[in-house]
Amino acid sequence: MTEEQIPNSLFDLQYQQRYKIQRMGFGLSMPLQGRPIAEDGMYHFWHFFRSLPFIKQSIQKKIDSSSREIESQLQKGLENKVFIKNMPEKKWSKEDIMKELNQYLGFGDFAWNEGYVSGAVYSGNDKELYNLMKEVYGATSYTNPLHPDVFPGIRVMEAEIVHMVASLFHAPKAIGTVTSGGTESIFLVCKAYRDFARFEKGIKSPNMVIPVTAHAAFDKAAHMLKIQVKHVKFDPKTTKVDIRAMKKAIDSSTCMLVGSAPAFPHGSIDCIEEIGKLGCQNKIPVHVDACLGGFLIPFMEEAGHSVPPFDFRLPGVTSISIDTHKYAYAPKGSSVILYREKIHRHYQFSVQPDWPGGIYGTPNLGGSRSGGVIATCWSALLFHGKEAYVECTKKIIDVTKYIEDGLRKIPHIHIIGKPEVSVIAIGTQYFDIYRLSGALTHKGWNLNALQFPSGFHLCVTQQHTKEGVADKFLKDVQDCTEEIMKQPNLPTTGTAAIYGMAQQIPDRSVVSELVWTYLDACYSIKTDS
Ligand SMILES: *Cc1c(COP(=O)(O)O)cnc(C)c1O
Repeated sequence: MTEEQIPNSLFDLQYQQRYKIQRMGFGLSMPLQGRPIAEDGMYHFWHFFRSLPFIKQSIQKKIDSSSREIESQLQKGLENKVFIKNMPEKKWSKEDIMKELNQYLGFGDFAWNEGYVSGAVYSGNDKELYNLMKEVYGATSYTNPLHPDVFPGIRVMEAEIVHMVASLFHAPKAIGTVTSGGTESIFLVCKAYRDFARFEKGIKSPNMVIPVTAHAAFDKAAHMLKIQVKHVKFDPKTTKVDIRAMKKAIDSSTCMLVGSAPAFPHGSIDCIEEIGKLGCQNKIPVHVDACLGGFLIPFMEEAGHSVPPFDFRLPGVTSISIDTHKYAYAPKGSSVILYREKIHRHYQFSVQPDWPGGIYGTPNLGGSRSGGVIATCWSALLFHGKEAYVECTKKIIDVTKYIEDGLRKIPHIHIIGKPEVSVIAIGTQYFDIYRLSGALTHKGWNLNALQFPSGFHLCVTQQHTKEGVADKFLKDVQDCTEEIMKQPNLPTTGTAAIYGMAQQIPDRSVVSELVWTYLDACYSIKTDS
């Protein structure tokens, strides 16, 4: 399906709906928060509306049935499990622990190590790598980089990670830190720019201007750091941030601009060059979120695929976040944040000079950390080297293009935007797209649901580069779509229906409550209830 054929009905409706909701004053980063902004007039209206007995009952009924659905999904397959609910009086033997552990690892229906899962695990069952990680972690798990004097070797490894990653992004100097993941990198960069704005420019109520497609971690950080978020719409054709809207959103209290390379939802790279220019013109720092693509985009040119400019070679770019625990294939728990200027990193640091426990300074959010995470990340980088990363990138981008081409040939679905790296988003104008993602779940696939517009995506990892996986995916999408098109108007059932329903609820705090239920359910073991 060509771009001109992308429908305007459902796609635009949902898209506009979101903006209407925001214009109506439902709060900008509200979907992530438990409550809408309390002083908001519309909130009171909806709150009142919701409290009407009939409405309340019908909303509550929907929430209850969705909650039950969610809980039963989480408990699936554990019906006969006897859970550990009390601390054992006596210690367990190693054999018993390992036996239990292996049983737990067998829970679940998704064959993540056979290519059935989007994102999540980026490496491809590389035995040599896994064994190396095991050995390295075994040798370093009890080290603590909070004490560089006690563990000088871990400190050096951490500094070397920053230098190696900085060299890939043409950073003028290797100014950065290692963090526990993308969310922490983003949190810290927001803190750095907020404090920079406050102490260097006297901005008291800072805001950040970010694409609506920027990762939810920005909203999370902004909420905690009390930074206002101005979400900027994207061009529905390209899914890249609308640069004119971004320009318009900037004001004298803007402390940072953000572009993604690529963005999580649809895999497009925002026009970083243009955002950089806006940053230069307005003297505002520009952060490039390359958490996802950080170990693909620097290698794409050499892997034979063109990529728009994204790094420190663009003068406006002042920081970049890169997750080493994604396409650098390090175990989970590491990411890197890089800055152009030392002053920005200074504002990232936390210093407490008056604490009776000593003068306390830390580069990131945590205090004590595991040196094992640093050591495994460091050795994953050395184990691959540039050559292997280029090779992995080539395989991943080739398979992404192959899947994209295959999907474009399947009638009644379309690609949302234009995949530029490793993510492919799928939508349709012919039926409820969550019926398709639900049908694929039944076939063993675990994909990511998207909203505004409705869709789902596949984030291609090394798992999908294995023989037959891409073709199996294409065949399943084709078969499921054909099956759905026999009766395109049937309602969606099961958990897949919750997404469609959630998009229709104007009061986003209702959706947030549903998420609370889900998160609560994650901590429940059946015998609790
Ligand atoms: C994964 C991701 C993040 C957040 O990273 P975590 O490691 O999950 O905390 C941020 N931005 C993008 C684009 C991502 O894909």
